[in-house]
Amino acid sequence: MVGSLYGQLKRMPRIDRCVKTVLDALYPTKCVLCHRIDRIGLCTDCLSTVDRVEQPCFQCGTRCTGAGPCGRCQVRSPAYDFTIAPFRYHPPLAIKIHQLKYQRKVALARPLAQALSREIKQLNYPRPQLLIPVPLHWSRLLWRGFNQSVELARHISSELDIPISRNLVRRNRSTISQALLSSRQRKRNVSNCFELRRPLNVASVAIVDDVVTSGATVDQMSRELRKHGAVQIQVWALLRTEY
Ligand SMILES: [Zn+2]
Ligand SMILES: [Zn+2]
Repeated sequence: MVGSLYGQLKRMPRIDRCVKTVLDALYPTKCVLCHRIDRIGLCTDCLSTVDRVEQPCFQCGTRCTGAGPCGRCQVRSPAYDFTIAPFRYHPPLAIKIHQLKYQRKVALARPLAQALSREIKQLNYPRPQLLIPVPLHWSRLLWRGFNQSVELARHISSELDIPISRNLVRRNRSTISQALLSSRQRKRNVSNCFELRRPLNVASVAIVDDVVTSGATVDQMSRELRKHGAVQIQVWALLRTEY
């Protein structure tokens, strides 16, 4: 009961910082992996043991040997410019994402978003003007009750002080889970499935997702954003699969 009240208070966007400080003192944050009290919910000791993508391609985020874009991006350049997806789709973070999405453990969004925010702060990429979470189709939103990308983006927004637009982009049809499909099927599955609800009035954006797999979803969303004037598009996700 107290925990859920605390959760609700912490989720309020304009809660006074003093109240938040008192709440933090009364209910200290614990690392979601080792359960020790830590300032953020995923301690540096645990994060140092998590598998990272080594030498990621700056554009698509997969493992790459050179300094430029990887071979795949050179052959067919994605519609986005940069990807920050620092961790590999391995346990324990893959399990935490699974718990967030399928066991509806929404409280995991904050520590996971903090871990990603800390990585973003360390990289010297230009700061976007707006965060845009990957939308769910209304039918999946109804089934799950929340959009994990919105939950992550909300906390990244408060960590990095960048505005978020939750409903600028709409998913206009329900798609099959990308995890079940081949690379070609993934592209076809998400083709033209996004549309903007209103004009985009900024030039640089970051698309926020939990996991990037083939990149087909964020590529399609980027194409739609480009059509409406986006000049620089980044993709921010916690995990990258070895695609
Ligand atoms: Zn820990
Ligand atoms: Zn690449």
